[in-house]
Amino acid sequence: MINIQSRFLMRKVFIRWRSVQCFSVKHFSDKASPNNTWYDLVVIGGGSGGLACAKEAAGLGKKVAVLDYVDPSPQGTHWDIGGTCVNVGCIPKKLMHHASQMRHAVHCAKKYGWIAETDLQKPNWNALSNTIQQYVRSLNWGHKVQLMQRNVSYFNAKGQFVDNNTIKAIDKTKKETLICGDKIVIAVGGRPRFPLIPGAREFCMSSDDVFWRKEPLGKTLVVGGSYVGLECAGFLHGLGIDTTLMIRSIPLRGFDQQIAHLIVEHMHEEGIKIWNSQVPVQVSKINSGSLEVISQLNDGTTFANGFDTVLLAIGRLASTSELNLQNVGIKFNEENGKIFVDEFDMTNVGNIFAIGDVAVGRPELTPVAIKAGKHLARRLFDNSNELTDYNNVPTTVFTPLEYGCIGMSEEAAIAEYGIDNVEVFHAFYKPLEYVLTEQSHKQCYIKAIVLCQSPQPILGLHFVGPNSGEVVQGFGVAIKCGLTYAQLSGTTGIHPTCAEEIVKLHITKRSGLDPTVTGC
Ligand code: FAD
Ligand code: NDP
Repeated sequence: MINIQSRFLMRKVFIRWRSVQCFSVKHFSDKASPNNTWYDLVVIGGGSGGLACAKEAAGLGKKVAVLDYVDPSPQGTHWDIGGTCVNVGCIPKKLMHHASQMRHAVHCAKKYGWIAETDLQKPNWNALSNTIQQYVRSLNWGHKVQLMQRNVSYFNAKGQFVDNNTIKAIDKTKKETLICGDKIVIAVGGRPRFPLIPGAREFCMSSDDVFWRKEPLGKTLVVGGSYVGLECAGFLHGLGIDTTLMIRSIPLRGFDQQIAHLIVEHMHEEGIKIWNSQVPVQVSKINSGSLEVISQLNDGTTFANGFDTVLLAIGRLASTSELNLQNVGIKFNEENGKIFVDEFDMTNVGNIFAIGDVAVGRPELTPVAIKAGKHLARRLFDNSNELTDYNNVPTTVFTPLEYGCIGMSEEAAIAEYGIDNVEVFHAFYKPLEYVLTEQSHKQCYIKAIVLCQSPQPILGLHFVGPNSGEVVQGFGVAIKCGLTYAQLSGTTGIHPTCAEEIVKLHITKRSGLDPTVTGC
């Protein structure tokens, strides 16, 4: 609850912020006054990377402007400052994931002696999404306050290049303002891709819509076999929605495939329908108001099914098509719109940089974009030479059974070092919290990939089980410090935890021995 005093304070902050903006806008149109129109740094994109860069540069005493603008999705959803993570990514996703696990938790609570009259079926979607949206709006507000506190000029306007120092800012009323800067950072991220099939943009939603939907989704088809597809299918099912997941080839491309299959197998056992080796080729609305999806199998066979909602999660395109990159000759990948950068995040144009999801070859993850933004600001304005380390970035897929990992998959390690030079230590384990609840633990699995050659560094660590993100984060530090197998197995475990099974790993795949952990 916000009390009256804090409301009053927020209002004062807001009025001050508005007056700063109006003052700035007045000066931007005054091109004859270079001291007021010229910024040390102009950032296009107020998401994870852009805001981190802008705030860091402003903290170093630089004059900074940030432009952020959200084009509505084809379904008309739009949101405020903060980018993908805050509004339509990590934050609402993790909250939905958490909510989805509560149904199971209540079911299990009975086994622990809690008296509950009935099992939970499904939450009130409207109440859940409202609560999440309120929290997201508080984050939007927080970002605006932070920009104001650091004297960063914020433009709710779309940026386009005029020349390599000048950006045209177009606001929602189509008013144009020219903003000039010494250095320009492009941090425009990406948006969901839509397939070129009839009905896709007209009738289907994406991750840009699902968290802002007011009404329950009904019977849902999720298309896409990677992070977004698996996570959305997972939380929708957990929230009591009849969910089907369509995967066209392999799940979680680029991840360890043994584990990717364990994750999907677990989702299937939980009750999610998995349709493999097929793609939608047409979506249309039928009389009842629901959607008919025609899908095609690899062999060309087609068939039709009815759904209330189709959620497309088939990857993302960088938001560069309207930046007028050609005005300054910035090189980018024609297929996905991503901008080519060097190790310093510099484009082929000396004063223009690109960070986060929009840059070629960077892991599309929030902490990566934030680190890149901070490091770049320090290199540009604080004589730092620290680069962002894009290797060994830990990550977690928030599926019903979470999968956290860092480093190489088994197949990537074997491809690079050869099968004889790679040792795989593994274990199937049973989380203690599952013991009384008869929860399936078949897929709770750990795998450490080790280079045989001394000092036997850990090349990759994979953990499937509860709270994977929390478990893997700490091991990420160790691996960054060069963790070896001897150091891992020389570490004492914390009992009774799931994470202790990592330091106890001793059975190699090569041995053929049963890797199931028994007893303490
Ligand atoms: P963004 O955060 O996308 O910000 C770019 C901003 O620029 C946006 O506000 C955009 O509207 C704006 N913009 C675009 N064009 C212009 C223009 N011309 N002018 C002005 N503004 C413009 N990562 C994790 O680490 N953990 C997770 O759990 C996780 N979950 C995710 C779940 C989903 C469903 C999705 C889609 C992504 C998830 N990610 C997650 C990825 C993460 O959200 C992104 O990697 C991160 O937001 C990228 O930050 P960015 O600054 O590069 O771009
Ligand atoms: P990805 O590009 O990772 O995956 C796209 C998926 O869609 C693949 O399974 C692909 O199959 C499939 N696909 C592509 N085209 C079609 C088509 N025409 N018809 C059917 N299926 C198709 O995209 P995501 O949107 O899942 O994720 C984007 C990024 O967002 C991730 O790389 C990740 O970095 C970030 N993210 C991070 C999260 C986290 O940290 N927990 C959560 C969510 C997103 P195929 O393999 O055959 O090409």
